[in-house]
Amino acid sequence: MHKDKDENVKIPPHSHCIVCGKPIAPTKVTCSRECEEKLMKMERDRRYNTLVPLIILFGAVAILIIRSLFGL
Ligand SMILES: [Zn+2]
Repeated sequence: MHKDKDENVKIPPHSHCIVCGKPIAPTKVTCSRECEEKLMKMERDRRYNTLVPLIILFGAVAILIIRSLFGL
């Protein structure tokens, strides 16, 4: 029974694609252009999803301030 030499081989530093989880180079964020586009779309959607409630909140606060200023 002999041990496999591969057991001693260190795994090189690597990262995982944040979209699909594939192992990739540590300098990269996504594995392919396809995943990069998916990521960009996800970030666009996230930005939109946080911006809209902020605008609604700002509008509601503005209305409250205007109402209190004019005693309505
Ligand atoms: Zn990927």
